[in-house]
Amino acid sequence: MNWPGSKLLDPKANSEVGLRIDDNDRVRILTAVATRGARFQVWRVLVITLSLLILLAVPLTDTVRLDLWSGNHHLLGEQVGAIEALKGFVIAMALLWGFTFATNVIVGRFFCGWGCPVGYVSRLGEDTQLKQRKRGLRWALSHLAGAAFVATFVASVMLWWVDWRVLVEGSWTARAVVVGIWLLLCLGGLLHAVVWRFGFCKTACPIGLYYRFVTSSTPIGIVFSNTPDPCIECGACEKVCPVDIDPKRLGETLVRDDDGPDGEEYYGDAECIRCGDCVEACEMIFKGRPGETPPLRFGRVHSESHD
Ligand code: SF4
Ligand code: SF4
Repeated sequence: MNWPGSKLLDPKANSEVGLRIDDNDRVRILTAVATRGARFQVWRVLVITLSLLILLAVPLTDTVRLDLWSGNHHLLGEQVGAIEALKGFVIAMALLWGFTFATNVIVGRFFCGWGCPVGYVSRLGEDTQLKQRKRGLRWALSHLAGAAFVATFVASVMLWWVDWRVLVEGSWTARAVVVGIWLLLCLGGLLHAVVWRFGFCKTACPIGLYYRFVTSSTPIGIVFSNTPDPCIECGACEKVCPVDIDPKRLGETLVRDDDGPDGEEYYGDAECIRCGDCVEACEMIFKGRPGETPPLRFGRVHSESHD
């Protein structure tokens, strides 16, 4: 194997299966996956772009805005009072919740892994990390893309609360306050990308925590099957999982290792954000085993698929 990233695999380490991931670093395994053609990346960019466009379009088209600057509240294109705009805001949030709930019933926490801008900021943070060894054009572009995404995401959230016209018609004080808040929130987003990343999805996101409790087994998800070809126990899928679960045991109630013998119990499927990183890592491993089928894939979940 002479492809970039092959250093992650040590053929001598496990003579029975021939391959073994010997690096615990999720980002480095993702680098190896990327160099072998990460096929979900284009889809992920499309889904997150759609998410961001919806977030931007709602206030920019005056569909809903609760304007804290000048009271220029809007609902469905009409100027309304604060109470009406607040009702519109609540309805918009309920629609978003209804949409993510419906997707959650069918495909679990798919929104967390594919459509959530905060999760995408985590991913962009990892992307800048994996390119930082060589400070060239790719390094600069990855930082630029990350910063641009954070800036646009923060602006899209602020537009729900502040009419953008404040930047043109507002007093210098009002402009300074709005830009100052935007910069502060951007700084928070960049810190998240550098420090917290998927730890936020795992431990703090209120939407994620809610779905952890309501998610049971879903008809579509990550499928693990030892037929037609068996798992070679290389561990790549587990090491690459951003929320630290074992993709081969999603249908089971597990116990967190880091909490000792009395650790917190959790249901694997409810934690999985359906990001597909484990599937891509498994596919990468099996590219070194021509003719064999990777045991992990997206698909219809049958009760026996986790056996
Ligand atoms: S189990 Fe796989 S799809 Fe689920 S969160 Fe982990 S890496 Fe992503
Ligand atoms: S499911 Fe795939 S990536 Fe995971 S341990 Fe088995 S062979 Fe390796």
